[in-house]
Amino acid sequence: MALVPMRVLLDEAAKGGYGVGAFNVNNMEQIQAIMMAAQKTQSPVIVQASRGARKYSNDAYLRHLMLAAVELNPDIPIVMHLDHGNSVETCRSAIEQGFTSVMMDGSLLEDGKTPSDLEYNVKVTSEVVKMAHDRGVTVEGELGCLGGIEDGHGANLDPRAHLTNPDQAVEFVERTGVDALAVAIGTSHGAYKFTRKPDAEILAMDIIQEIHRRLPKCHLVMHGSSSVPKELIDKINQYGGDIKPTFGVPIEEIQLGIKNGVRKINVDTDNRLAITGAIRQVFVETPAEFDLRKYLDPARSAMAEVVAARMTAFGQAGHAKDVPMVSLDEMAERYRSGSV
Ligand SMILES: [Zn+2]
Repeated sequence: MALVPMRVLLDEAAKGGYGVGAFNVNNMEQIQAIMMAAQKTQSPVIVQASRGARKYSNDAYLRHLMLAAVELNPDIPIVMHLDHGNSVETCRSAIEQGFTSVMMDGSLLEDGKTPSDLEYNVKVTSEVVKMAHDRGVTVEGELGCLGGIEDGHGANLDPRAHLTNPDQAVEFVERTGVDALAVAIGTSHGAYKFTRKPDAEILAMDIIQEIHRRLPKCHLVMHGSSSVPKELIDKINQYGGDIKPTFGVPIEEIQLGIKNGVRKINVDTDNRLAITGAIRQVFVETPAEFDLRKYLDPARSAMAEVVAARMTAFGQAGHAKDVPMVSLDEMAERYRSGSV
């Protein structure tokens, strides 16, 4: 099986009423961890790389690692997605490198930190949609700004200050033709999302419900949706770490989102925490150890465990075989003919 366009996977998820986790990667072990979890749960997969990850690992390494994942897992549909593209050029280069889905985040200017206006966002996103759909590649847009910074991308604003406006969401989706829309509902990137368990006052799930009511066919995306479980933080701190008390997005809120049109859920922090805790444990318990496999292997397993738990909670487990094989060329034809 080859890499598949994300649209196919999200359409199938909408039919089945489930969500699909999108997990960030920077290296081989993270890709392997996701594929271990996908095999275990028989899940379709979205692997995503940010600009920071592409710079860290180099597109050529990433591409070949993804092709290895495809070769070794012929029964699992896999999407390779660009997370937070900051310009048309960044999206173009990702498509040329074999990504089957791109995010154009025009909610911020090209510097990746200054909030833009609707006209700018519509203009750059439409340009990416045209270029990507010509090649069968899926496009995710973003409206409203999340809090926090992810790999240098983000306004680091009060996450309540730029929530997605449902009226604008309708206009944005109609004018751009995006396949999926990332919404700002009060979450932030990174580990420090909330200082208490989020309730309706700080996590605006009602915005998702309203947008889904107005745009029932648009696939919604929740960013910054790690749950930041206390046990992962405790483990890091138990082995000499220093992570302050913090709260993420509870799984039950994500499940409520999935009932209301959320089809893609971005998770990165939880995996970083799991990996860090596992490595710290080896360093503290066996300080003489210097064979990197002795700590990267448990790190990989710890991430696989988190990913498998999310795949099960989001409902994608068991659905690997439902996703039809659609090539980028076939998808491009569907966009041309207007059948999607
Ligand atoms: Zn994000």
